[in-house]
Amino acid sequence: TTPDEENEPEIRLPANMHGNEHIGTEITLYFLRHLLTNYASNPQVQDLIDNKEIWILPTINPDGKVANTRRNANNVDLNRDYGYFWDGWGGSPGPCSQIENKVMVQHLDENDISLEYNYHSVAQYVNYPWDYHYADPPDSQHIIDLSQVYADSANLTVTNGYDWYQVTGCIQDYTIGTSGALAWTIETLEPSSSSAIDQICYNNRDALMDICERAGWGIEGVVKDSVTSNPLYARVEFMNPDRVDIYTDPNLGDFHKMIEQGTYDLRISANEYAPKT
Ligand SMILES: [Zn+2]
Repeated sequence: TTPDEENEPEIRLPANMHGNEHIGTEITLYFLRHLLTNYASNPQVQDLIDNKEIWILPTINPDGKVANTRRNANNVDLNRDYGYFWDGWGGSPGPCSQIENKVMVQHLDENDISLEYNYHSVAQYVNYPWDYHYADPPDSQHIIDLSQVYADSANLTVTNGYDWYQVTGCIQDYTIGTSGALAWTIETLEPSSSSAIDQICYNNRDALMDICERAGWGIEGVVKDSVTSNPLYARVEFMNPDRVDIYTDPNLGDFHKMIEQGTYDLRISANEYAPKT
C-alpha cells in the first residue's frame, strides 16, 4: 500500500497530448497553483484536497511540446494510439504502442479514476463520448448534464464527440470504455494574447472547481477479503441497468462510480473468489 493512498474518488487531468496545443498546460498548472495557494483560505479548495485524489499532468507529450508538434518524437498522434477500438489512425503502429500512452494506461490500471478531463485547443467544446462511434454512451443524459455544468462555467459549448468528428484510439474513449470512469475532451481556443491566457485559465479553474466536487457522486464502496480484510483488485459490474464496469483500486479495494441517482444491481468478482451480487 502506498502511504498516501486514501479511500477517495480520483480525478485525472492530462494536458498537451498534442504538443502544439499549449494552453492545456497553463490551465492545469494554474489549477494546481489555485489548489496549492488557497487551501487555508478557501473552504471549497480545502474540501477538494481533503476528500479527492487529484492527478494533474500538465504535459503528456513532452517531446511534442518542446518541438511544438502535434505528434510525439516517433511521429505518432498520441490521441489516435489508445487501444479502445484502435484503428491505426495518426501513424499509430499498434494499440497503446507509445511509451507516453503505456504509462497512462498503467496509471489507469493502478488507480481508480472516477473523472478525467484531457485538454486540447483547436475549438471551444466540452466533448463527451463516444468519439469512435455514433451511439450515445451508457448513462448519456447524466453525462450530458455534467457536460453542461463544465460548459457553463468555462464558456464552452457541449458536443457529442462523434457528431463533431469521428476519432478512433483516443484517450477519452479508452478511459471511459476500459475503466468505467467519466471522461471528457476539453477544447479551448489557443490564446492570441497574454490576457486571453489568463481568462481561459480562470474560466477552466471555475469549471473544475464546480465539477471536481462532484467526482465520486454515485456509488462507492470497498472490496475486501471477508476473512483477512485484505483489499482486493475486483471488478464491479453494473448489471441492471447496464453500465460500464469499473475496477477497484488495488491498494485499498475502494471504488467510486459516478452515476445517476437510482437503483442498481451490482456483481463484484475477484480472482479466486466467489462473486457476490
Ligand atoms: Zn488536440
